Amino acid sequence: MHQHVDEALKKYDFSGRLRLLGEDAEQFIPNSVAELSAFIRKCAHEGKRVRVVGGANSYSPIIQSADRGALVSLFNLDRLLDVDLEKKQVTVQAGIRERDLHDIVSEYGWSLPQVTRKFNVLAGGLNSGHHSSGSDIPEVASAIVVGMKIMNGLGEVITANPGDDLFYAGLVGLGRAGIVVEYTLQCVEKFYLKAVGVQSSTSHLLETMVDVAPTKKFWRLIFFSIHWHRIRLIYAFRVSRRRVHL
Ligand SMILES: Cc1cc2nc3c(=O)[nH]c(=O)nc-3n(C[C@H](O)[C@H](O)[C@H](O)COP(=O)(O)OP(=O)(O)OC[C@H]3O[C@@H](n4cnc5c(N)ncnc54)[C@H](O)[C@@H]3O)c2cc1C
Repeated sequence: MHQHVDEALKKYDFSGRLRLLGEDAEQFIPNSVAELSAFIRKCAHEGKRVRVVGGANSYSPIIQSADRGALVSLFNLDRLLDVDLEKKQVTVQAGIRERDLHDIVSEYGWSLPQVTRKFNVLAGGLNSGHHSSGSDIPEVASAIVVGMKIMNGLGEVITANPGDDLFYAGLVGLGRAGIVVEYTLQCVEKFYLKAVGVQSSTSHLLETMVDVAPTKKFWRLIFFSIHWHRIRLIYAFRVSRRRVHL
């Protein structure tokens, strides 16, 4: 599954049902922010609608380009740009894969405060508001992003910081507030998670959830509508050391 982001601009979304490229649409994979800017300016001049896609894991038309439009992937904009050792922050290009990001921050002895899905492109995951866990943790984007650079429809790069309207609009913006090209992320001291899985009845979980939630920092519910009365709860808590079970 983690290899799922090894191919830029797939033909279909993850479900294999939605074709990404509209009729007569063009696709573009820039190698630099300057190249992306030139392409966006060209599209603006031609009146062409542009959509941006990450790992195409969203089962939704939000990742389909318009007919005669354009589809952009930041697949090649995947570099680490800066590390602030004092603030424990990294600045990365928005096309970095989440799996690589975890490896990078880990090398500095840090973790991201929130666990992400490793088969996403960072900007795709953050823009779709993916994964939150725990009652006091927002979704991943709000938990980790402390700065962004966003390209608007004129090909200009705008810096958006917490407090700016653009920052909040672009954080989980589904690509509608522009194309994010760069993120600055807050890390924390490295930690490990120990996960425990339990089966529960859905009714019991719903009755106790409000009281139990604050005591479990990271948790995940797996629920299938055909088995609506049973639910699987996986919760995890922080441990300082990695334990390997052979
Ligand atoms: C098997 C499977 C299991 C999943 N489980 C979960 C789960 O448990 N919890 C959960 O929350 N989600 C889950 N998802 C959903 C998935 O995690 C999200 O759809 C994913 O975060 C999208 O990441 P992506 O890189 O594929 O982005 P895409 O799906 O390609 O794009 C997502 C959105 O981001 C926008 N975007 C992409 N790049 C940029 C950019 N540079 N600037 C601005 N906007 C951009 C796109 O336009 C689109 O609107 C699951 C998906 C699959 C396939």
